[in-house]
Amino acid sequence: MHEKDVLISGAGIAGPALAHWLVRYGYRPTVVERAPAPRPGGQTVDLRGAGRTVVERMGLLPAVRAVAVEERGIAYVDTRGRCRARMAADAFGGEGMVAEIEVMRGDLARVLLDATAEGVEYRYDDAVTAIDQDADGVTVRFRRGPARRFEIVVGADGLHSGVRELGFGPEGRCVRPLGCAMAFFTVPDRYGLDGWMRMYQAPGATLALRPDRVPGRVKALMAFRTPPSGLHRSDPAAQRALLTRTFTGIGWVADQVVADLRESTDLVVEELGQAHLGSWSAGRVVLLGDAAWCPSPITGLGTSTALVGAYVLAGELARAGGDRDAAFAAYERVLRPYTDQAQELPPGGVAGFVPSSRLAIAFSTAVLRWMNRWPVRNLLATQFGKADAIELPAYEPQSEASSSTF
Ligand SMILES: Cc1cc2nc3c(=O)[nH]c(=O)nc-3n(C[C@H](O)[C@H](O)[C@H](O)COP(=O)(O)OP(=O)(O)OC[C@H]3O[C@@H](n4cnc5c(N)ncnc54)[C@H](O)[C@@H]3O)c2cc1C
Repeated sequence: MHEKDVLISGAGIAGPALAHWLVRYGYRPTVVERAPAPRPGGQTVDLRGAGRTVVERMGLLPAVRAVAVEERGIAYVDTRGRCRARMAADAFGGEGMVAEIEVMRGDLARVLLDATAEGVEYRYDDAVTAIDQDADGVTVRFRRGPARRFEIVVGADGLHSGVRELGFGPEGRCVRPLGCAMAFFTVPDRYGLDGWMRMYQAPGATLALRPDRVPGRVKALMAFRTPPSGLHRSDPAAQRALLTRTFTGIGWVADQVVADLRESTDLVVEELGQAHLGSWSAGRVVLLGDAAWCPSPITGLGTSTALVGAYVLAGELARAGGDRDAAFAAYERVLRPYTDQAQELPPGGVAGFVPSSRLAIAFSTAVLRWMNRWPVRNLLATQFGKADAIELPAYEPQSEASSSTF
């Protein structure tokens, strides 16, 4: 084992971003990803505030801008597709519901993976099965291949983190369900979006369509109220059947989207929840991104907090010069206030995003009409301002002389 060997579980957003910074500080990261290849799919994610600053410091802003999606704004429509309320992309200085930089989640992951192709070992189609810590390091067993030793293990493997399960306890103790599920998939562009993200709310079910970067395609999002049932783990046929039952006949273009869902090849279904842990580290094991503080897609802050978290974790490790405990403590001290406020759901919470009755939809419509006016405007400005609510420390690459074992 080399004294700077770090294992990262999860090649999503947080994992490759952390690997990038660790390489810069002289570490040797290995990333293990359960999926057989980089995962496509997902909608556009918002690159906001400090998250955007981190991408800029990585030197990747031009690459991200090159794959950004042009969106004119968000429009709420009624059952006949007529606009009820809308917010343009440049509202709130480009930090409104549609952020100034919207990028497909898969495209952002690809930019991060390409930027770390050298200096990082990626192991796909594999997962950590056991973690044994001792005074000198961690022995990690994998589903495939021999056991290996590392100095540190990072769980950047999302809301249903395997590392968290092994090192911190069962998911039921760490994740609070939000009573809502979301499905993301790609459909043909037959909906005349004209550059707008269009969203339709029926009781208990919300349907949104967003322009794709690739002409001829549109990203669909279906959100619906549901008690936790492990839906994200069920097979795609069962997921499609449930989505079909829930969205057929709800209005607007839902029936056509349900028909297109049958042909889609990139369906991702997630039961929404938030991760809450008393501590993000246990000895040599530390959590990052959704595994540690998942705020949920409803906040629009999951990606930015993951990028900022990766920057801070790597920076504190480098700054602590071998004192692992000090680095993990500083990581939490710097980041907790940022992720705590990111976890506060926007006004209305899940009920605002997926209203459960016609009355609630009427109320939500009234609120939406006030989107650009006081007091709703101020409430929304507070929500959008959260992405920037951290003073990013400046970390310098550590000198060889002061580097030592963790
Ligand atoms: C396919 C996909 C599509 C998404 N689409 C959207 C979206 O449209 N909108 C939105 O707001 N958010 C979406 N998200 C979530 C969003 O990416 C995260 O909230 C945010 O970017 C934080 O990133 P993360 O790296 O912490 O987690 P994630 O992006 O979830 O990445 C975690 C990675 O860990 C891998 N993994 C999981 N378990 C294991 C294991 N046991 N061993 C090894 N690897 C494991 C996963 O396959 C994944 O690649 C999506 C996530 C995924 C995986």
